[in-house]
Amino acid sequence: MSEAAESLNFIEHIIEEDLRNGYSRQDLRFRFPPEPNGYLHIGHASSICLNFGLGIRYDAPVNLRFDDTNPAKEEQEYVDAIKRDVEWLGFSWDTERYASDYFQQLYDWALQLIKNGRAYVDSQSSEEMAKQKGTPTESGTESPFRNRSIDENIELFEGMKNGKFEEGSHVLRAKIDMNSSNMLMRDPIMYRVLHKAHHRTNTDWCIYPMYDWTHGESDYIEQISHSLCTLEFAMHRELYDWFLDQVVEPRKLRPKQREFARRNLSHTVVSKRKLLQLVEQGVVTGWNDPRMPTISGLRRRGYTPESIRNFAETIGIAKRENLIDVSLLEFHVREHLNKVAPRVMGVLNPIKVVITNYPEGKVEWLETENNPEDHTAGIRNIPFSREIYIERDDFKEEANRKFFRLKLGGEVRLKSAYIIKAESCTKDTDGNITEVHCTYDPKSKSGSGSEESLRKVKGTLHWVSIAHAIEAEVRLYDRLFIDESPDTHKDKDFMEFINPNSLQVIKGFLEPSLKDVEAGKRVQFQRLGYFCVDSDSSNEKLVFNRTVGLRDTWAKIQNR
Ligand code: ATP
Ligand code: MG
Repeated sequence: MSEAAESLNFIEHIIEEDLRNGYSRQDLRFRFPPEPNGYLHIGHASSICLNFGLGIRYDAPVNLRFDDTNPAKEEQEYVDAIKRDVEWLGFSWDTERYASDYFQQLYDWALQLIKNGRAYVDSQSSEEMAKQKGTPTESGTESPFRNRSIDENIELFEGMKNGKFEEGSHVLRAKIDMNSSNMLMRDPIMYRVLHKAHHRTNTDWCIYPMYDWTHGESDYIEQISHSLCTLEFAMHRELYDWFLDQVVEPRKLRPKQREFARRNLSHTVVSKRKLLQLVEQGVVTGWNDPRMPTISGLRRRGYTPESIRNFAETIGIAKRENLIDVSLLEFHVREHLNKVAPRVMGVLNPIKVVITNYPEGKVEWLETENNPEDHTAGIRNIPFSREIYIERDDFKEEANRKFFRLKLGGEVRLKSAYIIKAESCTKDTDGNITEVHCTYDPKSKSGSGSEESLRKVKGTLHWVSIAHAIEAEVRLYDRLFIDESPDTHKDKDFMEFINPNSLQVIKGFLEPSLKDVEAGKRVQFQRLGYFCVDSDSSNEKLVFNRTVGLRDTWAKIQNR
């Protein structure tokens, strides 16, 4: 096998084989088919990257198709959010389609099925129908309405469409086989009555087609060559094909359904229904809460489209379901932000340092690089003065030789500034350290080229000048669930595993260059992690989200 062939995923192998067996490249066409009943999540990102990725690889069109057949759950807000998210991920669709565009065509085809003796109106209750369903090993029972005359079926089905009947009074069923070993083939429902306004067709329709009847026929109308869905639809494939058999015309392309494994992410849930529950019950502030595994939540958290695409590419697609550790997603955002995020200094848990031999009132604006990983990112000046903040964790009165930060009698370099030495500290009555008194070496200024500036000390600390620091609210996030796989417990609901400490809000002190920073801006707080300006931020009150720490501390804690 050539190297190129080896790197193909199994869906691409199927397509390559189809091309060898007579499909032409012009026949290839794909779609991404979300139901607008919630916001897209990281699982959808896999499906988006797969479908749009195939479009790019084969230079084929990809439709964005909204599977909008359940007006009870679907809304325009979700349609808008889905479009925004797909675009933000960096993909463009060929045409925007809606299953509801095909309601008339689907209705006409359903009438044709009735006329061909392939569909009938059942007037039993859903409970009665459920009883007749049988089991995987026992046949079902035929409905007493199964052999209604074609004329009676047409009249009833038209009556359903024209609003003559209440919800639940009649359904249209395909007449297939109540003895089939595939229970989905036991006269599946094609239409139900729903007196609900639809976000696009409003009250034009009061019957709505079911997923199985809609999906394949929509693929056929759009002439989709490969209709890719997740594994739970594998058993539906037989029905997908049966429905196509009823309508496909010669010389037209017949879509193929193929299945791949759903992607699950650890410490969260990837299901719109469950995510909606988190929103409705106020566990999070909304679909775009930075703790949510939604595309909009990840965006607000500070994720880049590249990092999500790289993640999806790395995990690839599979034939079997498994759980992907969220630290892999974090790895990808860290990797990308390392290249593109400007470095700034901010202190989140401050302790005051006074440099006793630095003149009072003096301020120096020190040059520092915006991103050592990217020399085109330029330089800026940061203010240095006699009183600064460093992180409380970065100072200890006494410590062993492995502690490379500041201790009494020891030296550290202040990033882009001077070498300081801790001489003494003051404490409050409870014994908490209130101030550290240091001296600095005036000849050790970074970048000055002097011998002292090149002198090596073990530790380098970040800092901010107290007089110049700006305050910001900083939101630190942790896993939303304490369990790796919260929705797989038989005896417990996923809501029982919510992490009560998934959000910690603190005050940070930042260098003044961040004063007018705009929402969405991503930076690295040196030595702390990557942060992003939240949409709640304003000139009066800056708000930062921690996207991810610099190191994978979670995995370390878990392994202790
Ligand atoms: P949810 O349960 O979250 O609503 P869904 O599958 O019902 O998921 P759809 O809007 O119908 O959501 O999904 C659109 C496409 O995205 C489908 O092709 C679906 O198979 C795919 N998809 C959804 N969730 C995942 C996932 N976790 N991993 C991979 N693909 C997914
Ligand atoms: Mg769904």
